[in-house]
Amino acid sequence: MNTRRTFLKNGVAVTAGLAMSTMSCSGNRKEQKKRSKKPKVISTWNHGIPANEAAWEILSNQGTALDAAEKGVMVVEADPKSTSVGYGGLPDRDGNVTLDACIMDHLGNAGSVSFLQSIKHPISVARKVMEETPHVMLVGDGALEFALSQGFQKEELLTEESKKQWEKWKVESEYMPAINSENHDTIGMICQDQDGNLSGSCTTSGAAYKMYGRVGDSPIIGAGLYVDNDHGAAVATGMGELMLKTLGSFLVVELIRQGASAQEACEAAIQRIVDKLDYKSFQVGYLAMDKAGNTGAYAIHPGFNYAEMIDGNNQLIDSRSFIK
Ligand code: ASP
Repeated sequence: MNTRRTFLKNGVAVTAGLAMSTMSCSGNRKEQKKRSKKPKVISTWNHGIPANEAAWEILSNQGTALDAAEKGVMVVEADPKSTSVGYGGLPDRDGNVTLDACIMDHLGNAGSVSFLQSIKHPISVARKVMEETPHVMLVGDGALEFALSQGFQKEELLTEESKKQWEKWKVESEYMPAINSENHDTIGMICQDQDGNLSGSCTTSGAAYKMYGRVGDSPIIGAGLYVDNDHGAAVATGMGELMLKTLGSFLVVELIRQGASAQEACEAAIQRIVDKLDYKSFQVGYLAMDKAGNTGAYAIHPGFNYAEMIDGNNQLIDSRSFIK
């Protein structure tokens, strides 16, 4: 079992190992940790494919990781067929579509909105919070008021299709979060631009048929998303309560900072959930990229996948999982 003590021990060993290998191969850069090509974008689930295309358009034209991370996930926010993000998102149990999103740049700036209604692109409002206010997070009516003051328009986000699904659900009204529902959920994206800078974004309509007012991990810096430009970035998807209780994305990046690979860090953060929480009926997936562009992904259950785009090639990759 990977206890805190053993991980810290391993972490120290890995860190010491890295320091030694850097010392022993100084002057011979080829032997240092393998570096992936820049730019690069990764994002959660199969809706990551079109999102990556939009991000790539920016990254391959010398754009910034921040612009790419915003514009990439906006594709999914606008897609009515994506019933877990933005426009067309499944509502709470009372029929309200309430959205959560956050964004972080390479300077450590962060912006977030939560429990936001009637605005199609919460990620862009989160960016405005980051850039135009002295705050990190705005919620509910305050977030809506701010969005309107910034020129965003109010729109009906509950589509006929999502309304139909909600009405069907109301017959039984049983709240039962489904593992890998429809094979896509929150979109979390990490971009690395030509300059090697990292930024990330995360946007969702949250758990379908949640209680009115429920907020998950996605808008919480450190739970749904964390970026440390010196070391790496991580995003999360799945049952937000588990990431909230373990501050999962921060944990992944912190483990990378201590010397773990992106893959080891995702696995250790899932292990933390498995060790501490009732995890069996819930899905959680972590996706991470270290500063060298190496990626990692790990989930509790099989079924989590992510899209990776590098050199103009966009592919869907199955994540490994704790339960096989
Ligand atoms: N993490 C999101 C939440 O709990 C939902 C998801 O990714 O499925 O709100």
